[in-house]
Amino acid sequence: MGKVTVTGAGLAGCEAALQLAKRGFEVDLYEMRPQKTTGAHSTQNLAEFVCSNSLGSLDPTNASGLLKKEMSILGSYLIQTAIDVQVPAGNALAIDRELFSKTVEELIEKSGKINVIRKEITDIPENVPVILASGPLTSDSLAEDIKKFTGESHLHFFDAIAPIVEKDSINFNKAFYASRYDKGEASYINCPMNKEEYEKFYDILINAPKIELKTFEKEGEKSAKFFESCLPIEVLASRGVDTLRYGPMKPVGLVDKRTGIENYAVVQLRQDNRDATMYNLVGFQTNLKWGSQKELLKSIPGLENANILRYGVMHRNTFINSPEVLYPTLQCRKRKDLFFAGQLTGTEGYTESIASGMLAGINMARYLNNEPLIELPQITMLGALTHYISDSSQKHFQPINSNWGIVSELIADKKIKKNKKLKNEMLSNRSIDYLTSLVKDLSV
Ligand SMILES: Cc1cc2nc3c(=O)[nH]c(=O)nc-3n(C[C@H](O)[C@H](O)[C@H](O)COP(=O)(O)OP(=O)(O)OC[C@H]3O[C@@H](n4cnc5c(N)ncnc54)[C@H](O)[C@@H]3O)c2cc1C
Repeated sequence: MGKVTVTGAGLAGCEAALQLAKRGFEVDLYEMRPQKTTGAHSTQNLAEFVCSNSLGSLDPTNASGLLKKEMSILGSYLIQTAIDVQVPAGNALAIDRELFSKTVEELIEKSGKINVIRKEITDIPENVPVILASGPLTSDSLAEDIKKFTGESHLHFFDAIAPIVEKDSINFNKAFYASRYDKGEASYINCPMNKEEYEKFYDILINAPKIELKTFEKEGEKSAKFFESCLPIEVLASRGVDTLRYGPMKPVGLVDKRTGIENYAVVQLRQDNRDATMYNLVGFQTNLKWGSQKELLKSIPGLENANILRYGVMHRNTFINSPEVLYPTLQCRKRKDLFFAGQLTGTEGYTESIASGMLAGINMARYLNNEPLIELPQITMLGALTHYISDSSQKHFQPINSNWGIVSELIADKKIKKNKKLKNEMLSNRSIDYLTSLVKDLSV
C-alpha cells in the first residue's frame, strides 16, 4: 500500500485522511497551525470549526439534512463524530467544538496510519499522491503555487457574493424575460421598479445593518478596492442615490413587452445552474445581515415571495476554478494523482467541505487500487454538488451550498411538484435508495 500526502488538517483533510486510513493507506497529514495561522482559526486543534458551531439541518427532507444522511450511508467519520458530540439545537446538528476536535484527533491517532506533521506546505508536493484540502484561507505561498499550476485565472479570491433565489418562487406577473437592447436570447429575468419602489428599496438598503468585518477580513478590503466591478451593493449605494441606477440596476434597453415601458430601475437575475432552477441577482454581492437581505429582496417587485437559496456573504475566500480543473470525482483533470477537497473546490460550508473530503479520500484510494472512481449522479445531493462545481459549461463559477436547485428534477406529475413536502421526501428517498444499494454493490 502506498502513502498519500493530505495538505490541511481541517474538516475536509481530516475526513479524507480517515477514509484513506480505513482503506489501508498510510497518510502524511500536514497542518501549518500553530506555527502559522489563518487569521480565522483560533486554536491548534485539528478539524476546528472557525465560526458557528452548527452544521445545519438533520432532517433528510432538507437539502443539507439529506447531504448528512448521504454521508452517514457512505461512512463519514466526521458526521458521525458530530452526531456523537452534538448539543441541543432543535432540528439542527450543532456540536461542542472542543469535543469534536478532540474526538477527531483520537480517531486519527487510533487509526495507526496517519502521521500528523505540523508544517506549512508551500508548493504542491510532487512524486506522491496528494489531496489538497488547505481551505478558503490557504497560506499565500501554497495559493501562489496552486495558481501557477492551474493557470493565473484559475484561483479566485473574492470578498462578496450575491444571493441566489429559486426561479419557481419569482412572480412573473411583475418580472419579465429580456436581454438588454434585445440582443441575443432573452435569458435574463428582470424585476422592474418605478421611482417610488426604487426609493423605498434604496432606503432599506442604505439603513440596513452590515455584518462586522473581523481584522483579517478588513485586510481583504484593500484588495476589494482593486476590484471595482465586484463592490458590494451597499458600498455602491453609499456613493449616491443614483449610483445603482447607473450600475447594476441600469434600466436602459430593458423593456417589458407587455407594457412597453422602460422602467426607473431594474434588478436583473442571471441563470445559475444548467436546469435553470436557480438565478443569481446580478451585481448584488453584499455583506448585509441575512435578515436585512431578506427584507431588501422582498421589497423588489417580483421577488416578494422569493425563496433565497443562498445569501450573499463576504469574507476572504480562496477557491479554484473547479469547472476547468476538476472532474466530478474531485480528481484533477491535469494530474491524475492529485485530488482537491473542501471549500477550496467551491463546495461551500462545513457539511459540504466534509462531504467533498470524504469523496476525495474514497476516490484517491480507488485510484491507487486501480478501481473505477465513484462519480455520484445528480440525484444525490453530493453528486449534484460535485457535478455543479465541475460543470465546464459554467462561465461565472461561484461556490455553492447544498440546495434542491442543483438536484435532478423528479419525473413526476404536476401535483407532486406543487406539494413541496412530498416532493422533497421523494427526492430524499430517491437518493437514499440509490446510495444504499451503491454501498452494498461496491462495498464502499
Ligand atoms: C471566516 C469564515 C467563517 C466561516 N463560517 C462558516 C459557518 O459559520 N458555517 C459554515 O457552514 N461554513 C463556514 N465557513 C466556510 C467553511 O465551511 C469553512 O471554512 C470550513 O472550515 C472549510 O473546510 P476546509 O476543510 O475546506 O478548510 P479548513 O477547515 O479551513 O481546513 C484547512 C486547513 O488547512 C490548513 N492550511 C492552510 N494552508 C496550509 C498550508 N499551506 N500547509 C498546511 N496547512 C495549511 C489550515 O490551517 C486549516 O487547518 C466559514 C469560512 C470562513 C473563512
